[in-house]
Amino acid sequence: MRRPREVDIMYVKGIGPARAKLLNEELKLKTCHDLLHHFPSHYVDRSQIYKLRELSGDMPAVQVRGRFVTFTEHGEGAKRRLVGLFSDGTATMEVVWFKRIKALKDLYQTGREYVLFGKPQEFNGRWSMVHPEVDSPESLSAAGGLWGVYPLTEKLRNRGISSRNIAGWVQNALAIAGNIPETLPAPLLQRYNLMGAAEAIAAVHLPHDNSRLQRARERLKFEELFYLQLNIQRYSNRRTATLQGFVFPRIGRFFNSFYSDILPFSLTEAQKRVLREIRADVGSGRQMNRLVQGDVGSGKTIVALMAMLMALDNGFQACLMAPTEILATQHYESLRSLAAQLGVNIRLLTGSTRKKEREELHAMLTDGTLHILIGTHALLEDNVQFKNLGFVVIDEQHRFGVMQRARLWTKNTVAPHVLVMTATPIPRTLAMTVYGDLDVSVIDELPPGRKPVSTLLRFDDQRMQVYRSIGKQLAQGRQVYIVYPLIQENEKLELKSLEEGYELIRETFPSYRTVFVHGKMKPAEKDRQMQLFSSGEARILVATTVIEVGVNVPNASVMVIENAERFGLSQLHQLRGRVGRGAAQSYCVLMSKRKIAADTRKRLELMTSTTDGFLIAEADLKMRGPGDLEGTLQSGIPFDLHIANIATDGQLVQLARDCACEILDADPTLTAPGHEMLLPELSLLYSRKLDLSRIS
Ligand code: ADP
Ligand code: MG
Repeated sequence: MRRPREVDIMYVKGIGPARAKLLNEELKLKTCHDLLHHFPSHYVDRSQIYKLRELSGDMPAVQVRGRFVTFTEHGEGAKRRLVGLFSDGTATMEVVWFKRIKALKDLYQTGREYVLFGKPQEFNGRWSMVHPEVDSPESLSAAGGLWGVYPLTEKLRNRGISSRNIAGWVQNALAIAGNIPETLPAPLLQRYNLMGAAEAIAAVHLPHDNSRLQRARERLKFEELFYLQLNIQRYSNRRTATLQGFVFPRIGRFFNSFYSDILPFSLTEAQKRVLREIRADVGSGRQMNRLVQGDVGSGKTIVALMAMLMALDNGFQACLMAPTEILATQHYESLRSLAAQLGVNIRLLTGSTRKKEREELHAMLTDGTLHILIGTHALLEDNVQFKNLGFVVIDEQHRFGVMQRARLWTKNTVAPHVLVMTATPIPRTLAMTVYGDLDVSVIDELPPGRKPVSTLLRFDDQRMQVYRSIGKQLAQGRQVYIVYPLIQENEKLELKSLEEGYELIRETFPSYRTVFVHGKMKPAEKDRQMQLFSSGEARILVATTVIEVGVNVPNASVMVIENAERFGLSQLHQLRGRVGRGAAQSYCVLMSKRKIAADTRKRLELMTSTTDGFLIAEADLKMRGPGDLEGTLQSGIPFDLHIANIATDGQLVQLARDCACEILDADPTLTAPGHEMLLPELSLLYSRKLDLSRIS
């Protein structure tokens, strides 16, 4: 018998060339393997049959059993429909079809018993079901209790293809391509008591009972995660083995005098630990690829500066890339004042750097007299060439795409050490998958003396109270952020609500200067407005989320987030991180409509109950799913897991990673006896995908 990957679905009984084409277009199913890996999205218990009398409006799809009394046709043209009156002895219901009327009229007979499966709807006291699945009772009892419900598209439905059809074709595919090869090494199956591949595939489609279904799903999830990790770890090992890094053997004058004479505070234990980790990396001879995660305000910038000083002490140049001009400028200003005292030549390069200055910078970069270059994407341009770039810092990495990071890589023949800093805490399981081979450091401590931001949920009808509190903070000399969501679908409306908000604030607080910043402004104008706020001249900043990342105004003590219900958790956390940077108690006010969905309310309440970024990130991932998480989307990393879920299968991710590492340690080339399936499977799964190890 041939293997499922070798058999086109058009040879499966019931499919044929036309449907095969459709399934290929709509669901990307080509071979029996694809069909067998098109898993049900959920299951229904079809041993349960409801009486029509028992139906109620909030029921999901249910089963009823009875007979059609009559069939009648109604309407004309697009409104044409076939209506069957269905009775089970307790009540009657209308069954309605809008498509394939003629075929169905011939197919179904009055007086015969059928089992219908669909969502009951109530209209004017009468029950109806539209396009239910129709089976004979005999065919149902053969299948056992749990039935898979398959994901379909609108077009497939319109062509009369149902979840039941798919289930049938899956069974036919199993019959013609029954030889499902085992894809996991036998010792793994034994050690973790996993179901075999063939059994798991059969059971996930037709599980009979819940415990069998759970075991099948676990095996399939494990397999998926195992190969994902095997792929990541294999590239990572190869990279470590082949990529030389610069060695920074000494800690010298720059680092030492900065530490003892200039550093204006003592480092937190977490900052010290991360610096030790970086030190170990850059002394090891292998190229560093390290992600530093630290909650907003945890002091990543100083760590980055000190790491760059290590490079300078060893005769290398360093650069720091930030995602926006505002941020780059802010880094430049704070680092320049610190570095100037050391005699370090530090400069800024952004899109608005003038040509003349640019040329001057280029010259200093190539002759080595420029030590640290800070900037935006402008650093990536081809004509920015360093004499000896040894260390690269990328701030707020989720704003950069994969390709942009890869470009920094090519600025040297030997790859510089790369330190990626992010304030979006990434849960461990996701980090393991997305940044498989990045080493991760965590700054899990805030500098002393910070008071946690107090977060309040307020409704629109309480606005006046909120404004009174803002007034008190302003009177105490503090500054205030007011942030509006960005509604991409409707820019005009967005701008309108922003402008109205701005006017209202100006009327309410006429004696304080208010500035106004949004994404559609020219960068220079935006910078000017931001500058007014940073300097303290303006006391209120009304803005869209352009200020989300990195801005540091320690005197600001209030963050008001309008329409907070529209923001994701991680975004709210980022915004909240703009306050609480000084000594004063700070506040974050989440403004929302009073009428919000229960899960939205839960989300907002979580914000009021914790300031722990990791907890919030975990919750965000669970609520939204990883594909949505900022960073994964933007990084362009393929995330097409079929059955496993990075957010909820954390333990399996860990197990899969451990197993993959163990196998690679014992058998780096994956050619040992018993591992024959690994390389072919890897190449089938990942040959066309990007080499993840090369992203930074
Ligand atoms: P983030 O991690 O969000 O980028 P920053 O690096 O901007 O945070 O640091 C936030 C503020 O905390 C800055 O004003 C910085 O000077 C200050 N800071 C950093 N480390 C310490 C420390 N160990 N003690 C006191 N203040 C610190
Ligand atoms: Mg920062």
